[in-house]
Amino acid sequence: MNIIDGKAISLEIKNEVRDRIEQDKLDVTLAVILVGSDPASQVYVRNKKLACEYCNIKSLSYELPEETTQEELLELIDRLNKDESVSGILCQLPLPKTIDEDVIIQAIAPEKDVDGFSRASAGALMTGSEGFVPCTPAGIIELIKRSGIEIEGKECVVIGRSNIVGKPMAMLLLKENGTVTVTHSKTKNLKEICSRADILVVAIGKPKFITAEYVKEGAVVIDVGIHRLDPEKNGGKKLCGDVDYEDVAPHTSYITPVPGGVGPMTIAMLMYNTLKAKL
Ligand code: NAP
Repeated sequence: MNIIDGKAISLEIKNEVRDRIEQDKLDVTLAVILVGSDPASQVYVRNKKLACEYCNIKSLSYELPEETTQEELLELIDRLNKDESVSGILCQLPLPKTIDEDVIIQAIAPEKDVDGFSRASAGALMTGSEGFVPCTPAGIIELIKRSGIEIEGKECVVIGRSNIVGKPMAMLLLKENGTVTVTHSKTKNLKEICSRADILVVAIGKPKFITAEYVKEGAVVIDVGIHRLDPEKNGGKKLCGDVDYEDVAPHTSYITPVPGGVGPMTIAMLMYNTLKAKL
């Protein structure tokens, strides 16, 4: 069993981004918008800004109050869309309930949509044309490839069909010539389908849901889930994934841990997308 080191691979990618920016003396700027004071979002935004600093990407920070209206947010996005010094725009989700997330996502100019959530980006991925790929599934493909794992011809099973993970993940595995099955909450015989997988990507959003019974001997298991644990009740552990790691790991050829697997890749791919927006 090999543990896929997402920390090391994400650092490799951030270094590549930083080297390219330094080599070509590029002026790359990411506008980061945060509305309200959700603590988890604040942590994500802080980590994104730190990654920008590391990569020599300038980050512009817009921290707006909870009461911000949709119109005010749309005005800001319009201004950033028109500002030629801004390479990419990221609006941290979730937004307050008074704002329609879809309206905001679609308002970001496709050439600055570094999260890859807009319909233009989704359509580009679906049709195999150039565009921004959502950071988490893009990071997973990098983890797989950079670990020397072949995707072509493999049985790939994706659990989950969200627009930000499951669906783009399936498209990317298909692009790499995997044979892809997408499963969801209405899937019958989930165990049986999963146990056929050479590569199993789990984005179900349920802590430790996937046990050894779901996994074929020697499979590659990618755990996208992130769940907070009470360290006092969990032997000091603060986080777990959608996969029951202790149970599953001994049966795999490669597995991603939580933390230190998929998580760090998401921010690294955001840096990659921001550089791409400048080129
Ligand atoms: P989501 O929008 O809640 O989607 C969960 C998916 O799982 C849905 O498609 C749902 O099916 C499916 N599902 C639920 N119960 C199921 C069951 N019993 N059997 C089979 N499928 C089932 O979640 P998400 O945004 O894709 O995120 C998934 C997980 O990844 C979460 O833990 C999230 O925190 C984590 N995440 C991590 C990162 C990272 O950077 N590491 C990034 C994004 C998300 P239906 O469509 O039928 O409801």
